[in-house]
Amino acid sequence: MENIQLSENFFQEFAEDAHFAEPQPVLQILQSRKIEAATICLRLRCSDGVFSYIHCGFDKAIAEKAENEIPDDPSKLPVIKVLAYKVLASQDKNTFIITDYDLISIDMPKIGNPKGHTGDADGQSIKIASFAETAEKFFPQLEENGSYYVSGSQNCIKPANKRFNSTGHDYEITLSHDSVIEAAEKQSYEAPKFVLKQTSLDKLSSLSGQYADILAVIDKVEDPVNVKKKDNTETYRRNIQLIDQSATSIALTLWGVQAEGFSGAEGQIIGIKNAFIREYNGTYSVAVNSGCRIELDPESKDTEILHQWYEGERPNAEVKSISTQANAVSNNLVDELRLFSFFSIPNLFVDPQRGIYFNNVGIVSQLRPDNVLYMSCDNKDCSKKVTEGNGLYGCGNGHSLSKFKYRYMVSMEISDMCGTAWVTLFDKAEAFFGKPAQEMGELQIS
Ligand SMILES: [Zn+2]
Repeated sequence: MENIQLSENFFQEFAEDAHFAEPQPVLQILQSRKIEAATICLRLRCSDGVFSYIHCGFDKAIAEKAENEIPDDPSKLPVIKVLAYKVLASQDKNTFIITDYDLISIDMPKIGNPKGHTGDADGQSIKIASFAETAEKFFPQLEENGSYYVSGSQNCIKPANKRFNSTGHDYEITLSHDSVIEAAEKQSYEAPKFVLKQTSLDKLSSLSGQYADILAVIDKVEDPVNVKKKDNTETYRRNIQLIDQSATSIALTLWGVQAEGFSGAEGQIIGIKNAFIREYNGTYSVAVNSGCRIELDPESKDTEILHQWYEGERPNAEVKSISTQANAVSNNLVDELRLFSFFSIPNLFVDPQRGIYFNNVGIVSQLRPDNVLYMSCDNKDCSKKVTEGNGLYGCGNGHSLSKFKYRYMVSMEISDMCGTAWVTLFDKAEAFFGKPAQEMGELQIS
């Protein structure tokens, strides 16, 4: 127990790039306190002997072990060997979440003289550092997203040390023993505004490899799945379908803690600042990293408008996904050519929601001549059949209009060298017959 060596500078490595920091650091716990949070059970201030860091915690999954083993006594400073941890990235910092550890010592004298490492922040932030006893004095007062007045002697303000300060601010504040921090309860500042320079989803395909701001509705949330990474460790992945008024849908992929802890539900609006647009084989998806900021139902007029669209018009919209091969604008028609015998492959994976897309070249071997046209609702984006009553044409979606429009619904049998299939052509039949449905309908009456 005599020679305990902490993993010096771990928190600096962690701040620079959390994924390349020492995987099993030995750390001393300077403070711990029980909190109610989604991901962690005990909030910690940990020390690596050189730096201390306040955005630390024990994962909820090990709550029982942690609460039993870590003494609930501020005078005791336990030392642990972290066996596994994960990183919860938010827009201005990385939270260090311990998922497994060994208790090395239940109490040790304080090792080294760690200075507070405040972690990273964005451009509107200023770093406030405090060292040793001052840190101990102020730590319990500070809460995330809290508003504070900081006062004290002027020499607290120093030019920022850019090596350890990524706020982009030219100055930083170092608290000293005569500094005073007061919670600014009555005059709290609002958190930095969430302003999006929105790009509509149908425009994202022209932005591959770039960043864009998105405001969309969560159309579908899949459960997180466990996947193996290249280095053989496991992580979570969760797919989410987003949609907006352009009736375009795109997949958002979340990884790790973000995938696990995602709380958005179908029908909620999601705003993403600095989403990364990925392209793969002509399909597109949205990825997020620590530079992104995600908000659910962000307060804005656009959120309301999108909500209304989703409730009113989404059910009838003809949705185009730019995350699936068939709808992606791709030139690989030949690659996707399939014979109808393709369907007889055992274990053929067919997505139960979306079915399966492919191209086929065949000949029309039969055509059902009756009912190639139907009377369709004239409401925009509605293609339901209408029935006449009292001079009005009503559809299954509850629209009732004084007129209707003709639309194609053509059943035909297509044959290739290996098989046949019956297909139905809707508006695409116009190209087949060379006349708009309306014109055909009028011809039919006359
Ligand atoms: Zn209708």
